[in-house]
Amino acid sequence: MSSSPLDVCAFLERAAEALDLNTDVREVLRHPTRSVAASITVRMGDGALKTFPAWRTIYSNALGPAKGGIRFHPSVDEHEVNTLAFLMTFKTALAGLPFGAGKGGIAVDPSDLSRHELERLARGYVRALRHDLGAGRDIPAPDVNTNGTVLAWMADELAALEGTAQTAAITGKPIVLGGIEGRAEATGRGAAQVVLALKEFLDLPDNASFAIQGFGNAGAQFARDMHAAGYRIVAASDSHGAVYNADGFDPAEAEAYKAKNGSLKGFAEAVPDNDLRKVKVDVLVPAALGGWIDETNADDVAASTVVEVSNQACTVEGADRLVARGVHVVPDILANAGGVSVSYLEWVQNRSGERMSRQDVFRDLDSRMHAMAKQVAARAQNDDTDLRSAAYRIAVSRIAEAIESMGTQRLFNE
Ligand code: NAD
Repeated sequence: MSSSPLDVCAFLERAAEALDLNTDVREVLRHPTRSVAASITVRMGDGALKTFPAWRTIYSNALGPAKGGIRFHPSVDEHEVNTLAFLMTFKTALAGLPFGAGKGGIAVDPSDLSRHELERLARGYVRALRHDLGAGRDIPAPDVNTNGTVLAWMADELAALEGTAQTAAITGKPIVLGGIEGRAEATGRGAAQVVLALKEFLDLPDNASFAIQGFGNAGAQFARDMHAAGYRIVAASDSHGAVYNADGFDPAEAEAYKAKNGSLKGFAEAVPDNDLRKVKVDVLVPAALGGWIDETNADDVAASTVVEVSNQACTVEGADRLVARGVHVVPDILANAGGVSVSYLEWVQNRSGERMSRQDVFRDLDSRMHAMAKQVAARAQNDDTDLRSAAYRIAVSRIAEAIESMGTQRLFNE
């Protein structure tokens, strides 16, 4: 495991300075608790064996069992998994959930695999990590390119290995297998609730315009909810291109177009260079993959607010540049915490054996997101700082309190 701190550790160091955090706690939080690398060997359809590198990192278990998604993507590596696990650590803490944090991934392009090959890969991942997984140890969830079906295979494999049902050990399952209503909408809906709660803080006009980079699960749901709240969605992109309509469009129509044509291309006027950063809108919403706003293009951002629906949408330098220019950045650990909040409800549901209705899930989610956003805004105002710094200060304080309460003799490397 790499022992050098991650770039994103800058967010932690700044919060630690502001909080005058003791050196023991800083040292613990600078490094992942445990990081496992595995080689998953799969019998492919043509009879040949193929090996895929895979990782799972538990960044912190100070506040409870680790929680975090598993990503299937060709660019996944140990550094990315550790970075995402770091972000989860402060997300679950900020959300006040009884979870630590982890993240996992396999370096694979799932579109190259048949369904049977993908299933063998997912089951192989669980076999490689079975001793780390469990409802009280580490609870995976979906992430980029992993869906309910993949998570169902994983839960089933773990159950077969352990000899007992493992429903609460994995979230994001199909509803019929113990999944929760509303999980698909949770991240986008949660982000929309955050923006609505921060309307005054962000000084958003009543007819504010939005541009969505990455019109997928989270981005499209966010757009639907903001449209329903009376705001204008004027631009959106997917991996094939970016489109623009100054009067705004109905996201449901854009989704229907995308479902029919495979992309948004042609739905409205094309955006020059496909670059949504330069489009004149009030709010820019990165919702694809991380690192989209960095020091080379942060000055191109025309919006006065950026909402990080994707994890680490801004690099540390990119985020600093935006804040220096007076752009509000709603940080990922606040903006996209709706997903893990509803995953928590799924875990509770699986442990209690009860089922929550969709209405109850949304009521719970909305009130959590609203309260979290208000708390972060109040801290930002009180400390005269930006939203990310405020969010990290709240999260780091909670984890620090847990670590100090346990004492540093506790074994972090189990
Ligand atoms: P998704 O795969 O459903 O959607 C991603 C979208 O981004 C797709 O429409 C894709 O075409 C588009 N895209 C990819 N590359 C692009 C590019 N270069 N330019 C423009 N668009 C591009 O994924 P999702 O579940 O909506 O997740 C989006 C982001 O939100 C990810 O970073 C994920 O980690 C983060 N996130 C998701 C959840 C969740 O519950 N879904 C929770 C927390 C964070």
